[in-house]
Amino acid sequence: IDLLDKKNQLLTTESKLVKEQISSMLLVIGLALLLVIMLLFWSYRNRKIQKRLHYLASTDHLTGISNRGSFSDKSKTILQSAEKSESSVALIFIDLDHFKSINDAYGHQVGDWVLIQVVNSLKTIISGKGMQIGRIGGEEFGIILPDTGSIAAKDFAEHCREIIQKIDTFDTGSHFQVTASFGIADTDSAGYNLDNLFSAADLALYQSKKYGRNRVSCYEGDNIDL
Ligand code: GH3
Ligand code: MG
Ligand code: MG
Repeated sequence: IDLLDKKNQLLTTESKLVKEQISSMLLVIGLALLLVIMLLFWSYRNRKIQKRLHYLASTDHLTGISNRGSFSDKSKTILQSAEKSESSVALIFIDLDHFKSINDAYGHQVGDWVLIQVVNSLKTIISGKGMQIGRIGGEEFGIILPDTGSIAAKDFAEHCREIIQKIDTFDTGSHFQVTASFGIADTDSAGYNLDNLFSAADLALYQSKKYGRNRVSCYEGDNIDL
């Protein structure tokens, strides 16, 4: 009986030990799970913050489109792949006409309203065609068109010009006309180098300004008369 009693005590102690081992194992597993969850949460938050930072660094805050840096990067990527496939790319520069006078006459807020309306109008005709739009500077925008030569780009720019001209300023409480001048360059005449393409579109834009504004001009190599 004494021996059985001791065996019984031993078994009870063993069972307690096993229970304690199980509960400490569960504790370790629980802690490991908590650590994994914390790591997942941290990496999710980190990715969200990075996305937000990338958005802030690449977006124009007033209009919500790409800023100059981001537009240049996107254009460079389009140009590199077009060079490989030997396809044409066109670039359109848009500069609002006498924009300073709009600011002076109706105030900076109305000027901002115009910039937003211009972008919203352009967005209605550029969405889903592989084109990219960006704000190059104050009242200047760029649109890059993959698989497009200067003739098709000119038609498109004319469409943009008309759509800007039709902006109804009723909501501002004043009635005035918004117009823009356009400069076009394509890779057939300016090559696949981004800086050269930008300069060529700039020259064509200058041409539009020089000959009366609210018009479209194309760079064709040596046609620019400055
Ligand atoms: P042009 O027809 O020759 O292009 O004349 P312009 O008046 O449009 O050009 P100019 O370069 O003389 O003036 C551009 C103006 O754009 C000056 C600047 O105050 C204004 N501008 C630049 N950025 C902004 C902006 O974010 N909001 C507003 N409201 N105005 C801006
Ligand atoms: Mg300008
Ligand atoms: Mg201007």
